[in-house]
Amino acid sequence: MKRLEGKVIVITGAAMGLGQATAMECAKEGAKLSLVDYNAAELENVRKLLASEYPNTKVLTITADVSDEAAVKAYVVQTVSEFGTIDGFYNNAGVEGKQAKLAVYDMESFKKVIDINLMGVYYGMRYVIPVMQAQKSGRIVNATSVGGIRGVLNEGPYVASKHAVSGLTKNAAVEYAEDGILINAIAPGAILTPMVEEAFKQMNPENPKQAEQAFSLNNPSKRLGLPEEVAKLVVFLMSDDCAYVNGQIIAIDGGQSNSY
Ligand code: NAD
Repeated sequence: MKRLEGKVIVITGAAMGLGQATAMECAKEGAKLSLVDYNAAELENVRKLLASEYPNTKVLTITADVSDEAAVKAYVVQTVSEFGTIDGFYNNAGVEGKQAKLAVYDMESFKKVIDINLMGVYYGMRYVIPVMQAQKSGRIVNATSVGGIRGVLNEGPYVASKHAVSGLTKNAAVEYAEDGILINAIAPGAILTPMVEEAFKQMNPENPKQAEQAFSLNNPSKRLGLPEEVAKLVVFLMSDDCAYVNGQIIAIDGGQSNSY
């Protein structure tokens, strides 16, 4: 039996990186997918990839910006009207923002990071939770980060937004467990996705590979993580195998957040 057989899973930020890898893993495990992203072209590529690797998977793609509350409400309504329910929600879309120290941080970029990473996650929960409450079951996995547990040099708004997501996750878990909804967050370290490649470019524009190597050497596991490794954790948290884990911020970082 596949672990997500027949379950309806919504993934935001599904066009690239962790969202894309999780969409593939969910399809492998038998889920029906509602994939949301504001990058329509890349989302279409994911739809084609799924159609070639998992032709029996039912896939709905929705172009939407998660920082737009009306668009979030609309993707939830569209998913329920297509599939009738939402069993799992990977609230994943996020941006890193520019890298700079707090006192000189570009205000517009600061607000954008908060709008997408915090408000986007909140709007998602605001509209998905009532659907799950009505069916008395559901799983939500929010995207926080090691930056939602610790400080990260030059990433003030990112770290603020991810700490807020960690807090929202704990609160939502306390509020909705009695409705049969389990709500957790994953906190990846550096996982090799387009977002992290962009971060390495900001750290060392002349030689991003050097920044990548330095990150790998600092990690107890001496390597970066892979999107597929994160996808497997998300699938577990959205499956029935996860029955009593609730309100947790689960680091997936090779041990980095525990090293001195
Ligand atoms: P990525 O940049 O590779 O992919 C992010 C996806 O989200 C893209 O497809 C992008 O188009 C989409 N997106 C961004 N803003 C959006 C918006 N407003 N509306 C709709 N879609 C939007 O990033 P990733 O590395 O896959 O990261 C995914 C999540 O995991 C993010 O929340 C990120 O903060 C978190 N995270 C990633 C890492 C890592 O190492 N990759 C580490 C910690 C946390």
